[in-house]
Amino acid sequence: MLVEPTIAGVRRWREAQPGSVGLVPTMGFLHAGHLSLVARARAENARLCASIFVNPTQFGPREDLSTYPRDMEGDLAQLERAGVDLVFTPDAVTMYPPDFDTWVEPGAIATLLEGAARPGHFRGVATVVLKLFTITRPDRAYFGQKDAQQLRVIQRMVADLDVPVAIVPLPIVREPDGLAMSSRNAYLSPAERQAALVLSRALALAQSRWQAGETDAAALRQAVCELIAAEPLAQTDYVSVADGEGLTELERAAPGALLSLAVRFGKTRLIDNVVLGESL
Ligand code: AMP
Repeated sequence: MLVEPTIAGVRRWREAQPGSVGLVPTMGFLHAGHLSLVARARAENARLCASIFVNPTQFGPREDLSTYPRDMEGDLAQLERAGVDLVFTPDAVTMYPPDFDTWVEPGAIATLLEGAARPGHFRGVATVVLKLFTITRPDRAYFGQKDAQQLRVIQRMVADLDVPVAIVPLPIVREPDGLAMSSRNAYLSPAERQAALVLSRALALAQSRWQAGETDAAALRQAVCELIAAEPLAQTDYVSVADGEGLTELERAAPGALLSLAVRFGKTRLIDNVVLGESL
């Protein structure tokens, strides 16, 4: 496995690959969710590239950029075992030289939900992902449904800007007790880790109410909010029942609607979601 911190080095490698190339972009501190993307990408491509880059431009000024968990050595060992051919590990100056001054500005979809809570977040995401695409020129790129809105922002960008890459979405990988895997779970105290189980329980409750015939989106949002409010360590940021594509809020929850939420446990903000009609 090659570990390549420079853009020129990745380009040289890419030019030497005659077959298909898959890309798995990550911010590192890898877990089984990331590895599910790597496994799928490994199976579908002749060559496999992963990237590890904690992208500063997608963090707000009061967010956790400086404390974001990192484990480069452990990550590289996992990627090597998973059959990755090249890992792109740029530093911030490589991706954003001092004179950097061009951005990808996603539209309406990026103003909702995570975009409303984290101004500028999706501009940073879209910009870095487009750069990763032009540097690695993948045939396919793999993204988790865990970050459902990010996935849709990237799908929109690729369609709007005619980027020649197939976006492959993959389901959320959960801990055995239901908590969605996330690098940020490492921040949780034992009590917060226990309390965070309320997220998947709330999603499961809404899903079962919906399956039992409750299609009033406000009633579903309320049921989720009430369950979370009963957990003293949880502070709800938002609960949304939205159209699965454009992410606008719904009055009636149809199959394919996205029920998503963001909840704080102490200093840690977690997100999770379920598509109505699909398994959790
Ligand atoms: P991150 O390192 O958090 O930027 O995530 C890198 C990629 O892994 C993104 O496409 C995420 O959506 C995906 N991912 C993160 N957590 C999970 C999970 N629990 N299940 C599936 N994919 C995930």
